[in-house]
Amino acid sequence: MSATPADASQGGSIDHVLTEDRLFPPSAEFTKNAVISTQDQYEQLYAAARDTPDDFWRDQANEHLHWFEPFSEVCQWEAPDAKWFVGGKTNACYNCVDAHVEAGRGDKTAIIWEGEPGDKRTLSYRELQTEVAKCAEAYQQLGVGLGDVVSIYMPMTPELAIAMLACARIGAIHSVIFAGFSAESIADRNNDASAKLMITSDGLNRRGKVLPLKQTVDEALDKSTTVEKCLVLRRTGGDDTPMTEGRDVWWHDVVDTQPGVLPATPLESETPLFILYTSGSTGKPKGILHTTAGYNLWARRTFEWVFDHRDDDIYWCTADCGWITGHSYIVYGPMTAGATCLMYEGAPNHPAEDRFWDLVEKYKVTILYTAPTAVRAFIKWGDEHVDKHDLSSLRLLGSVGEGINPEAWMWYHEKIGGGKCPIVDTWWQTETGGIMMSPLPGITPTKPGSCTKPLPGVIPKIVDEIGNEVDSEHGGKLCISQPWPGMLRGIWGDPKRFVDQYFSDVPGQYLTGDNARRDSDGYYWIMGRIDDVINVSGHRLSTIEVESALVSHPDVCEAAVVGRPDDLKGQAIAAFVTTTNREVNDEFLKELKQHVRKQIGALAQPDDIRFTSALPKTRSGKIMRRLLRDVAAGRELAGDTSTLEDLASIASLQEKD
Ligand code: ATP
Ligand code: MG
Repeated sequence: MSATPADASQGGSIDHVLTEDRLFPPSAEFTKNAVISTQDQYEQLYAAARDTPDDFWRDQANEHLHWFEPFSEVCQWEAPDAKWFVGGKTNACYNCVDAHVEAGRGDKTAIIWEGEPGDKRTLSYRELQTEVAKCAEAYQQLGVGLGDVVSIYMPMTPELAIAMLACARIGAIHSVIFAGFSAESIADRNNDASAKLMITSDGLNRRGKVLPLKQTVDEALDKSTTVEKCLVLRRTGGDDTPMTEGRDVWWHDVVDTQPGVLPATPLESETPLFILYTSGSTGKPKGILHTTAGYNLWARRTFEWVFDHRDDDIYWCTADCGWITGHSYIVYGPMTAGATCLMYEGAPNHPAEDRFWDLVEKYKVTILYTAPTAVRAFIKWGDEHVDKHDLSSLRLLGSVGEGINPEAWMWYHEKIGGGKCPIVDTWWQTETGGIMMSPLPGITPTKPGSCTKPLPGVIPKIVDEIGNEVDSEHGGKLCISQPWPGMLRGIWGDPKRFVDQYFSDVPGQYLTGDNARRDSDGYYWIMGRIDDVINVSGHRLSTIEVESALVSHPDVCEAAVVGRPDDLKGQAIAAFVTTTNREVNDEFLKELKQHVRKQIGALAQPDDIRFTSALPKTRSGKIMRRLLRDVAAGRELAGDTSTLEDLASIASLQEKD
């Protein structure tokens, strides 16, 4: 990292102050066997998807999805409405499960599962097919069919994936709610989606304790006006699960007793597949709608390209199925590709901080996909937990959810990847359905902190406030200018918000809500959310760059940076920092300010730095800067806080005021 002078910006573009010079090309050995192994191959795919999208996606869809009836048209696009593979019939559950059994691969392991207490299960694709069919049969018995919404609030057990796939099998729409949300949040989502069936379990194992999920669901169901039945999996045991007669039924009574023979229903390409409420880093949760064929194809192809999938891989995505990452890269992407997926139920630090590394060693995981928040936690917990284990099975690492600070990237690369595994820093959103920008591990030399280049079919544009393309060295708003198969099809029940939020700034283009810049090598750098930009004396700065400068100090674990009102400069920079074991005093404070000044210049030096034991995060682990803005300004917290992971962290920051 080195300092570059910040230029005064024009027309709403973003100044960039952090320069990253390190470059990590893939090893010759990795490249030799890679799915995409030459730059030419990528460029041809990219050009074909950009210049002749209909031909490109026609071939992709015919080759990589099963069609009960062929489609007649590839894409109908009239912004904001996209229809893909019009006239065709397919089924995402069939593509994920039955297709492998039909092709003679039924004995391949689909899911390797480990519960937090250490219990284990594996399911072959054939076994999965039977389980999914049983669950779909139970849905029908409970009166659920095509177009009905099923809310799923469950621990990370195989049944969670089974419940999702069983919806897809009959054309019901799943809405998975992360099993950490409150009764209020569940009821809001149930009512917004008019859910008919709710699925949960008696309890959930978390850090050695049992959380009574069913009790939370009962509270939610008191306020859910449309839910008729509740299906309950016995996971944690005990006799004290309250069951309401006429509404609640046990999984072992109604699912396990079915014959398990129901075939997948051929469904129109645009049949809704799921609704997923976004994590709410920026405001009121919104129900993002994805449909069957386009999403399924996008999840599969991006999985195969980015994770360089091979038949003998043991692939582990550590996300929860409650997030889009779990939908696309635990269930639909890897399973359509016929991968073997590890699924883990519990916390990364139970019974000890080496649980992940224990799992990697035990199951010989080859591909690991996790989030920067986890990487930062591992760094804080100390290298000794990693050093206890043999991680040599790993060949590829992935990151998703937030920008990864270059120093955290370096630790991941060296400590977990042994310096030999490529890292794919994948930029995408709930709305995009799948990965949009990422290195291709066999060919892309990586730069710590950059998601590098767009995948085939993704045409990014960087624009200023009024929608004109900006000089790429400056950052601006990131838009996507052509439709892609995995794009969202709407916000459930709110067509106006759909247009306002994503399609109003630049006519016909999808507005991501993030800022980005493109460097002279054509690499993209996500600069954070548009709402998070800090304006210091007319210089617009990205939060992630200042945060990365702070995190590059050896005694800093995590940093969040926001703007607070300042009479002189418009905004001043306020930083919130968690440290390793270093004593917090004035000397450290000065040293940190100096450090940032040296790394990225005086302009970006924080005016205030506050030390804290934890930063406020969404339940998916993302730093919630909008709340910190209120804290920094000494204001009441505004907006929705229902998706906040730990209210105590923000309360303790407010008390310090
Ligand atoms: P909401 O839209 O409700 O505020 P959210 O944006 O946090 O919630 P997601 O769709 O899960 O919900 O997250 C997508 C966002 O996460 C992106 O817009 C971006 O800001 C951030 N993000 C994801 N991956 C990366 C990455 N690799 N680098 C930088 N930022 C990333
Ligand atoms: Mg978002």
